Amino acid sequence: MSLRPTAHIVTYGCQMNENDSEVMLAYLEEMGYEWCPVAEDADLVMVNSCCVRKSAEDRALGRVGELKRVKDQRPSMFIGLTGCMPQQPGRAEEIARRAPHLNLVMGTHNLARFPELALQAANSAATVVEIAPEPDQLPAFPRGQVPGARVSAWVTILRGCDKRCTYCIVPYVRGREMSRPLGEIVSEVQTLVGQGVREVSLLGQNVNAYGKDRPQDGVTFGGLLRRLEEVDGLWRIRYTTSHPRDFTQDMIDTIAASKKVSDHFHLPAQSGANAMLKRMARGYLIDRYLDLIHRVRAAIPEATLTTDLIVGFPGESEADFEQTVQLVEEVRFDRSYMFMYSPRRGTPAADFLDQVPLAVKQQRLARLMEVQDRISLEKNQRLVGRTVQVLVEGPSPKRPEVLTGRAFDNRTVLFPGDVALTGTLVPVRLLTAHTWTMLGEQAS
Ligand code: SAH
Ligand code: SF4
Repeated sequence: MSLRPTAHIVTYGCQMNENDSEVMLAYLEEMGYEWCPVAEDADLVMVNSCCVRKSAEDRALGRVGELKRVKDQRPSMFIGLTGCMPQQPGRAEEIARRAPHLNLVMGTHNLARFPELALQAANSAATVVEIAPEPDQLPAFPRGQVPGARVSAWVTILRGCDKRCTYCIVPYVRGREMSRPLGEIVSEVQTLVGQGVREVSLLGQNVNAYGKDRPQDGVTFGGLLRRLEEVDGLWRIRYTTSHPRDFTQDMIDTIAASKKVSDHFHLPAQSGANAMLKRMARGYLIDRYLDLIHRVRAAIPEATLTTDLIVGFPGESEADFEQTVQLVEEVRFDRSYMFMYSPRRGTPAADFLDQVPLAVKQQRLARLMEVQDRISLEKNQRLVGRTVQVLVEGPSPKRPEVLTGRAFDNRTVLFPGDVALTGTLVPVRLLTAHTWTMLGEQAS
C-alpha cells in the first residue's frame, strides 16, 4: 500500500471546470498526493461545482452532504468546495455556515492559490473561506503530464465572458474575457503533441472572441486556428463554445480550408423567437442566425451542427416556443442541448415578472426533445454504410467490451476492437444508428 496521501476531485459543469480540476490535480501531484478513484476513500476531496442551473447546484450540494457522512466516521478527511457556486456574491459564507464540515471554500479566481489555501485549511479548525476578485491578468497554471494513452486534451485559450445574456450567471462568476497569448497556446499544444496527444479542444466560454482583449497582438480566433494548423503531429482541432454573434466569415473560410479543424459547429441559438432573443440580449435575431447556418453549409455542406436551447424563458408564449420547434425542424441540428430556464439570483431575467410555470417548461422540454431526438436518429441513420475515420479514445466507460472514439464531425462511434488501437485513427464502417451514438465495425 502506498504511503502517499490520496486525493479525489468531483467535477460538475462545463469543460472549463474539467480544465480547472486538471489544474488542481497537477497542484495536488506537486504536493505529493496520489489520485484515488473513489471519493469516499480519499484523504482529500475537492468538489468543483457549477451554478449555471439550480439542478447543478443541487447536485454539488448533495455530494457535499454525502461526503459528510464519510467524514463523520473519519474526521481527518479533508473536504473542499470550489468552482462557480461559491463565487456568487454572498454564497460562500452561506455555504460555509450550512456545511461546517467543509475544510475549504474557494472561488474560481483562487485557483492559483489552491496549494496555499489547502495547506492553511488542513491546519485550521474552522472552514477557510476565500473568494478572490477577478485578477488583472491570467495566471500561468501548471499542467500535469498527460497520462499514458491520452490522445485528446483540452487547451484553454480564454477565460471569462464579456456578454451579458440576461439569463446567465457565467460572466458574474468567471469574470471578463481574458485571452492567453498566442505563443503560450502554441507551445502548450506542441508540448502536448510531444506527449502523444493528437487532438486538442480549444476551450473558452466564447472562443471566437479570442484576441479581442489583446488588440496589441493583432490575433483573432481564425488566426489562431491557422497557426495551430501548422503544428506537426497534431491531427485534429476542436473548439467550444462559439457564439453566433462573433462567428466571422474569415473563421468559416479558415475552417473550410483546414484539414485539421473539425467540421462540427456548435452554435447556441437559445430560442427561435425574436422576442425571446431580444429579451435574452443575445445580440442577433433569427434571420441572422439562419444566415450564419446557411453560410456554414455553403462552405462545408457536410458540417455537423449542434446547438443549445432554453425553453420557458420569462414571457415565452406558446407561439414563441413553437418558433423554437420550427427552428429545430428547419435547421435539422444533429444534436441539441435543451434546458428549462432556471432563474439565477443576480441576473436580470430572474427578476422578470412573467416567469413560466414549471409544468409548462417541463411539457415544452419534453416536446422539443422528442422532435430533436427524431431528427438526430434520422441524421445518424443516413450515415449507415459509410466508413469514417475514428480517433480511438479507449474502451467505452459504459461498455468496456467495445472501443469508443470520435469521427471528424464529432460523432461518437463505438466498435469492437483491440485496446491497442487507442490513440490511432481507425476506419470504421457504420452499421447501426442510435440517437446519440453509432455502432460500427473496423473496415479494412
Ligand atoms: N458560453 C456559452 C454557454 C455557457 S452556459 C454560450 O454562450 O454558448 C451553457 C448553456 O447553458 C447555455 O448555452 C444556455 O443554453 C444554458 N443556460 C445558461 N444559463 C441558463 C439558465 N439560467 N437556465 C437554463 N439554461 C441556461
Ligand atoms: Fe452566458 Fe451568454 Fe456569456 Fe454564454 S455568451 S457564457 S450564455 S453570458
